[in-house]
Amino acid sequence: MTNTNTHSEPEITIGISACLLGEKVRFDGGHKHHNYIHHTLGKFFRFSPFCPEVAIGLSIPREPIRIVLEGDRNNPVQRVVGTRDPTKDFTQPLLECGDEQQHWVRNLCGYIFKKDSPSCGMERVKAYQNEQPTRKGVGLYAQQIMANNPLLPCEEEGRLNDTQLRENFIERVYVYARWKKIVASGISAQGLLDFHSRHKFIILSHNQKRYRELGKLLSNIPQDNVEAFSDDYILAVMSVLKKPSTRKNHINVLQHIQGYLRPHLDCIDKKEMLQAIEDCRLKDAPLTIPRTLLRHHFRKHPDDYIAKSYYLSPYPDELNF
Ligand code: SF4
Repeated sequence: MTNTNTHSEPEITIGISACLLGEKVRFDGGHKHHNYIHHTLGKFFRFSPFCPEVAIGLSIPREPIRIVLEGDRNNPVQRVVGTRDPTKDFTQPLLECGDEQQHWVRNLCGYIFKKDSPSCGMERVKAYQNEQPTRKGVGLYAQQIMANNPLLPCEEEGRLNDTQLRENFIERVYVYARWKKIVASGISAQGLLDFHSRHKFIILSHNQKRYRELGKLLSNIPQDNVEAFSDDYILAVMSVLKKPSTRKNHINVLQHIQGYLRPHLDCIDKKEMLQAIEDCRLKDAPLTIPRTLLRHHFRKHPDDYIAKSYYLSPYPDELNF
C-alpha cells in the first residue's frame, strides 16, 4: 500500500455492520456489500465486522424486525419487535448486545453502521407509531454503541457517498487514532499542548470560536489532574469536529498557512497559490489542490511548525477520492 501522508499514522481498526463487507447475515440471507468501504477504506483500515442480530441468536434467514414507538407521542419509547409477530420483543437483547461489546469497541477508532436497520441504523430509521411510519427511529445496537463511546467517530454507509461527510468521517477517525496513540503512551500536559498545536488548523477549519476557547482552556491545565482534564478536552475537540468544516474556514486556514511562505515565493508562485485558493472559494475546487501545492513549496522551504501540523495531510492522499 502506498501512503503518501507525511506523518507516520497509527494502525486503525474500524467497527462495521457485517453485511456491509458482504457477509450474508441479513434477515433475507443476503448482504449489502459496499464496494468503496471494502476496497478503498479497506486498504487503510482494519475492519471488525459484527452483526448484532446474529449475535443475539437470530437465525439467517429470519423474520424481519422493526421499531415501534410507544407511550408519550413527544417522548416515545422504542421497542424492536417481529414484523409478523409483534409479541417477539428483541429490545432488551439488542440493548444488552450493544453494552456487551465494550471489550473490543473501546479499541476502535471509528464505526460504520448500516443505515435504515432497526439494529444498526444511526438515525432516521423507519419506526412505527400507532402503525404510522415515521423516521424517528435509532437502531438499538447502534444507539448503545454511540452512547457508551461518545468520542468514537460513527457514520452510516449511505452518508459516506457524500464527499463532505466522507471527508469529515475519515478526518475524525485519524484524529481519534492519533489521540488514542498519545493516550496509550501516557498523557502529559506537554503531550496535550503538542496535540492541540498539531491539530490547530484542522480545528480552526471547523470552528474558529471553539478553537480560541479550547486554547484558553489549555492555558490552565491542572498539573495534578491532567488525565481528567484531557478527557474533557478531547470530548470538546471531537464534538467540534463532528460538524463538517466549512469552505470559508478552509480558505482562512489556507491563506494563513500561505503566509508562512511569503518571504520565499516569487510573483509567479504567489499568483499560482492565490489562484488555487481562490478556485476553492469560488469554484468549490478540491482542497487537495492548494494543499498539494503548499506541501510542494514547504518541501523546498521547510517550516518546523507547518511540518508538524496535520492540516496539509490530515490522512493519506488516496482517501481523497
Ligand atoms: S443487524 Fe446490522 S449487521 Fe446485521 S444484517 Fe442487519 S444491518 Fe447488517
